[in-house]
Amino acid sequence: MEYIDNSFEAVIGLEVHTQLLTHTKMFCSCPNVFGKEPNSLVCPVCLALPGSLPVINLNAVELAVKAAIAINLNINKKSLFARKNYFYPDLPKGYQISQFQDPVSSNGYLMIDIGGGMEKKIRINRLHIEEDAGKLIHAGLNSFVDLNRAGTPLAEIVSEPDLSSPAEAAAYLKDLRDILVYLEISDGNMEEGSFRCDANISVRKKGDTNLGTRTEVKNVNSFKFVEKALEYEINRQIELILGGGKVVQETLLFNSKTGKTESMRGKEEAHDYRYFEEPDLPPLILTDGFIQKIKDSIGELPKAKRQRYINDFALSEYDAEVLTQYKDVANDFDELVKINNGTIDIKKIANWIINEWMLELKKRWATDNPEHVQERAALHEENSIPIEKIINEDLINFKMNEIIKDRKYFFDMIMQVENGKINRNGGRLVLHQLVENAKNRKVQSVEKIINDLNLAQVSDDKGIEDIIRQVLEENQKELEDLIGGKDKLFGFFVGEAMKKTKGKANPKKVNEILNKHIENYKSGI
Ligand SMILES: [Zn+2]
Repeated sequence: MEYIDNSFEAVIGLEVHTQLLTHTKMFCSCPNVFGKEPNSLVCPVCLALPGSLPVINLNAVELAVKAAIAINLNINKKSLFARKNYFYPDLPKGYQISQFQDPVSSNGYLMIDIGGGMEKKIRINRLHIEEDAGKLIHAGLNSFVDLNRAGTPLAEIVSEPDLSSPAEAAAYLKDLRDILVYLEISDGNMEEGSFRCDANISVRKKGDTNLGTRTEVKNVNSFKFVEKALEYEINRQIELILGGGKVVQETLLFNSKTGKTESMRGKEEAHDYRYFEEPDLPPLILTDGFIQKIKDSIGELPKAKRQRYINDFALSEYDAEVLTQYKDVANDFDELVKINNGTIDIKKIANWIINEWMLELKKRWATDNPEHVQERAALHEENSIPIEKIINEDLINFKMNEIIKDRKYFFDMIMQVENGKINRNGGRLVLHQLVENAKNRKVQSVEKIINDLNLAQVSDDKGIEDIIRQVLEENQKELEDLIGGKDKLFGFFVGEAMKKTKGKANPKKVNEILNKHIENYKSGI
């Protein structure tokens, strides 16, 4: 990273707030859903009506502990909820229930990739559980409060200031997000605020061991902006110091339109919040059995899986990344590799999953949910996010055994393509039929589908030979041009032959036989 003066270095710590994918809110039974009519998902607890009392959501605790274990934090068997007191119109209680002293987990780390095959250990101070506030919506001179989000379960993950550049900060966020999405703890959606990041930034002369005064940049709401915001702020601080000024401890907002950070308020200290133990909630006590059960459910994390795919199956980094984006997809791939048991090249299985299976399901999801897609597209208009990305961030059901009843069918379909019984397009049609069959509770083998839909390739030499002769005869002009050197026309003849067989000819055979004929013509036979 180039700064305006490279004798300085940056010291960055990140606080990530991630919403937990629970069905209900942290302390009441209101649904935890994004994008509903304002103030339609509220109850006496999240509205802070007198006499209402909070109850801890067990599922939120499970997800928080799962996240904590995945990033190597120690789980504290006894933790406490605390009140963080401040006034804001989106916070009806006048305090946020959080954890302060005695959080649910502490002292962990995440290994991040810093390029060139190098890794860096980023220490994580803690992960604690808290609730989200509501939202203010400003329109002209009016401001409105929407309390649907009030009480949404959050995990706050606080890193130590171990990150030394905007690129490292981005790598940390990406790795953290990958884990949370993979384990279905969070949908990781930065633009909608379910994965948010505040950054603490200071600069110092290289070699200095003392930390400079830090500023906090709030709510950087997209991956694209993280590096930009940090780079701007680092340069701003360096410039200030070079000009003889001093960095003031304050809270800043990143303005994505100007690309600058703007002062929001003086930075408050922890003691300003008058934290005290939440009197309405008991201490959170976790048993060894509870923690162990969650540990056992985690399994191989996406990064380790990616590396295994690259090393053991020689998959490209991109393919390994796509396959490990969703736990269900990775799981199906692993199971298919077992069924395959060395029969065909694993890359072929990977290709079918990436290019046909995932794509087909995403397309289908978008067609089945047009309103949802439109709604979200409108929401993201300002950031102009492509629709594929929006769909990517939705949790689509990828479970093969649910969608086509048994992943063995998927494998059978690939084998039929590999054996030359059907071509690729036939494979797609089989896949499509498998989905329909599962919907209609119809059981059919892949072979039966191929017969019923008449998909078997024409592979016998005689049949293809006849078709090619016919095609050549019918297109004398093109044939002369081809013999005369217009090689492009070869594809034209392949296309005509495929058309005559309604796409069922074995393309390899068509190429072979056609080539033989053309060579014969050229040599005057
Ligand atoms: Zn509620």
